[in-house]
Amino acid sequence: MNDQLQRLSNLPLREDLQGLSPYGAPQIDVPVMLNVNENTHQLPPAVHAAIVEAVSDAVAGINRYPDREFQELRTALARYLGHGLSQDNIWAANGSNEVLQQILQAFGGPGRTLMSFPPTYSMYPLLASGTGTTYIAGDRSSDFTITAAEAAKQVKVAAPSVVILCSPNNPTGTALPLDVIEAVYEAGRETKTVVIVDEAYEEFAHAGTSSALTLLPGRQRLIVSRTMSKAFALAGARIGYLAAAPEIADALRLVRLPYHLSAITQATALAALSHAPALLANVEDIKAQRDRIVTELRTMGLSPAPSDSNFVFFGGVPDPQAAWRSLLHEGVLIRDVGIPGYLRVSAGTEAETTRFLDSLRRLLDQ
Ligand code: PMP
Repeated sequence: MNDQLQRLSNLPLREDLQGLSPYGAPQIDVPVMLNVNENTHQLPPAVHAAIVEAVSDAVAGINRYPDREFQELRTALARYLGHGLSQDNIWAANGSNEVLQQILQAFGGPGRTLMSFPPTYSMYPLLASGTGTTYIAGDRSSDFTITAAEAAKQVKVAAPSVVILCSPNNPTGTALPLDVIEAVYEAGRETKTVVIVDEAYEEFAHAGTSSALTLLPGRQRLIVSRTMSKAFALAGARIGYLAAAPEIADALRLVRLPYHLSAITQATALAALSHAPALLANVEDIKAQRDRIVTELRTMGLSPAPSDSNFVFFGGVPDPQAAWRSLLHEGVLIRDVGIPGYLRVSAGTEAETTRFLDSLRRLLDQ
């Protein structure tokens, strides 16, 4: 037992949390940080200035609680998403992690279950344990894909309260075809399973990839979760949101803390949304670096998975832990997701991506 667990064991911690480890991607300050799928581009100067001005205005009224319903922000998010959505369809929180947590507080909880399909975002089981929800791990094929028929069969058998489908999936990077989402939704009809599609990386998908937003009309139990942490380069501001039927937002109003989105957060998000085209221009740059990584890794004899995200998952690494350490030694931090033979790297700026590719090539040549 490590020191932390030893200290904890003296406290009357909930039985279902005993022995668990917290989320723990390493935060190491090195020149090239490509381990948590951040947007490594600095904000364009005009966006930076707009946020500073908006925050300054918000500070003038900071003695008052913020708009508990963040109506202006919901309207701006609906306008950004399009698809005929209005502010009634939108909900937001401090990062999409908090959005997912609120959904589990409302639709999961003791005696209920959450299902997802590993390898997928490592927070799902932790969000389940935090909310007292039992986690069910579904299966994928050995190439990490899943078909509509397979996913629907597993959901029918497990009959979960909530399913999360991550598309594009973290850590593999690949987007799910919409027929998988439709089939899972249908499979959950009798059990009224709530289906969340986590589209944290949707803006990075290849042109022609359809968002699950197109499936929302007529599907009351479907929720599409998004974030401003990635495409909008606002990981530090903590803004996530969802689109769904208005009654989903009503359910979340029962569990959210009052005034959970600070006036600073709302002002920041609004300023960034009003500069969406400038921020999305950087997304195109990141997609080009992502595609460059895929091409270069293939020439090195590695096996990158198709990526619709701002990162690449690649196989063919004989000793991922040793490779991870060697890259770190050269000042390049990537992610060992604990899958034998694989590593994951975020697409950075052109210079960062070059540093990563050069270091990896040197390592493989040795
Ligand atoms: N979903 C996925 C798939 C993610 O990879 C992440 C962050 N890495 C999140 C949600 C949460 O992001 P945030 O809370 O910053 O919105």
